[in-house]
Amino acid sequence: MSVPALRTPPRRVLMGPGPSEISPRVLAALSAPTVGHLDPFFLDVMNETQTMLRDLFRTQNQLTLAVSGTGSAGMETCVVNLIEPGDRMLVCVNGVFGSRMADVAGRAQAIVSTIERPFGEVFSPDEIAAAVKQLNPKVVGIVHAETSTGARQPLEEISRIVHDAGALLLVDCVTSLGGIPVEIDGWQIDAAYSGTQKCLSCPPGLAPVTFSPRALELIQNRKSKIQSWYLDMKMVANYWSDKSRAYHHTAPINMNYALHEALRIVLADGLETRWVRHRRNHLLLCSGLEAMGVEYAVAEEYRLPMLNAVKIPAGVDDKAVRAQLLNEFGIEIGGGLGPMAGKTWRIGLMGETSTERNVLMFLAALEACLVKQGASVRPGSGVAAAIAAAGA
Ligand code: PLP
Repeated sequence: MSVPALRTPPRRVLMGPGPSEISPRVLAALSAPTVGHLDPFFLDVMNETQTMLRDLFRTQNQLTLAVSGTGSAGMETCVVNLIEPGDRMLVCVNGVFGSRMADVAGRAQAIVSTIERPFGEVFSPDEIAAAVKQLNPKVVGIVHAETSTGARQPLEEISRIVHDAGALLLVDCVTSLGGIPVEIDGWQIDAAYSGTQKCLSCPPGLAPVTFSPRALELIQNRKSKIQSWYLDMKMVANYWSDKSRAYHHTAPINMNYALHEALRIVLADGLETRWVRHRRNHLLLCSGLEAMGVEYAVAEEYRLPMLNAVKIPAGVDDKAVRAQLLNEFGIEIGGGLGPMAGKTWRIGLMGETSTERNVLMFLAALEACLVKQGASVRPGSGVAAAIAAAGA
């Protein structure tokens, strides 16, 4: 059978919920020569990656590494390593990824309880305190940046409540890491996972994770085997440790090159600088959308800068607009998930995607789509408002 060569992928502007735009430097790193997974060259790459991941997570945690797999593998890693059959886990569900964490915990044979908030809303410390008091969980799981809804969950006070109750805090940082503050040590988060494809602007394929000394002790003193062989941190950590380097699985070498380069870019920019850039471009987008009559789906205080969930204006065809954006303008945005399907758009400004240029281009393209839909938009209003906000 003769299969034609891979066609050149179309050039897209990735303004959806991930993956985000990738720097040519990262793509070049992907195509560097592959070496063996125990080659001294690669071991140096692993060591440097761990050091950079600690800086990124703002932690001293020894057990910090990149799991071979996407963000979901990071989620499973954290859950299956912390949970033994019959352990109680409380999962806070205010979006698709909270539900997924509860599903994963159930499969790991935790006794799972959930508390829920409507999509787009966040949990108050009091709600968490009441649930923790009632359920006495071993682990509390929560999503920092719910990509399905565009809401940012404040964590500091919740962390105090969880620890006062003797539980561990597990946080999904897939979308937040590198775009807004994530303070693993400062907020005393016990376990956290992320993904490469959001604000780190690296292709999907690896999941940075970190475990506090307390979480590590708990893992080391488990009575039962970790349910997943592949994601067993006791074994994977031996591969990442300079002391043992025991073979576990063949690391995806080139993806690790890519992450190494992506982390170099993030840290050379400086985390604070990136947080400011993400916020600034979010505010420009926000000014433009509001001037065009497009409303946000999340209260201002809890909006994520990297994931803008907005209400689809009445009478406008969701799929037609997204198809026009993609086919005519080469711009990808996301549709709503779960109960938000057909009601919201999710506009990503993650990592390399978060630029003033992309904001202005998107606003102009969206205007063309809305006009085609018969919506009343004052010509140029979105772009003009964003330019004014940029100059303010
Ligand atoms: N958690 C959150 C908050 C996410 O946004 C995603 C992906 O969008 C995931 C987990 C799962 O990550 P992945 O799709 O890379 O497996």
